[in-house]
Amino acid sequence: MTEFKRPDGRKEDELREMKAKVGIIPNADGSAMYQSGNTIAIAAVYGPKKMHPQHKQDPKRGVLRCTYNMNSFSVSERIRPGPSRRSTEISKIIEWSLEPVLDLDRFPNTVIDVHINIIQADAGTRCAGINAASMALAHAGIPMRDLILSIAAGKLDKTIVIDVNKAEEDFKEGEGSTDIPISMTSSGEITHLQLDGKINSKQLKKAIEMARKSSKEIYEVQKKALKESVNLE
Ligand code: UDP
Repeated sequence: MTEFKRPDGRKEDELREMKAKVGIIPNADGSAMYQSGNTIAIAAVYGPKKMHPQHKQDPKRGVLRCTYNMNSFSVSERIRPGPSRRSTEISKIIEWSLEPVLDLDRFPNTVIDVHINIIQADAGTRCAGINAASMALAHAGIPMRDLILSIAAGKLDKTIVIDVNKAEEDFKEGEGSTDIPISMTSSGEITHLQLDGKINSKQLKKAIEMARKSSKEIYEVQKKALKESVNLE
């Protein structure tokens, strides 16, 4: 059997080159950029601020409101600006993946707005968005129990790989491609898992284990960017 080769030559568990920067938008309460290869996400946090309209206020806890937007110029085939079914779904997923580490009880009747923009896309944009948002929330000083690390595992034919890019998402040989975005805390508690394609339970376990290992690398990148922002301010 010949060994499986990834289209861009990476090892099975090799992440794309990561870059992260915190404090990129001076007017926001918190902001961050996270880049994985050719995928770049920026996140800006505004709040907690009083929720309007008033009937949307929750007297028991603050509301986390994420808005994911893929800029029309972020992909080679320009996408129509404005909300779409996809962006609405991804916005919800980002909220659900981050909420478990936030202490929203401390901010009744308020909203924390997180605007996530994808300025360049090469797959894994929801994960990049979650990583950027996690750092931006910490930068905004929102009480958090942990950071959230997010990565797309994948199965290309029969091989489990980490950090799937667009060429890999489009992989058609053999069993084709399965995309598994996963988000977790630094201790490995999963807050989000999606699965697009087919996989057996043994392979899924392996994908989750590989994602757990990779999340440690992302954690280091996020922490370093947050520390650098503190030293600058
Ligand atoms: N994509 C695109 N046009 C679209 C939606 C997606 O070109 O309207 C590309 C883009 O590179 C994106 C990738 O397809 O990153 C995978 O999209 P998916 O919906 O699987 O989400 P993602 O992997 O970005 O979280």
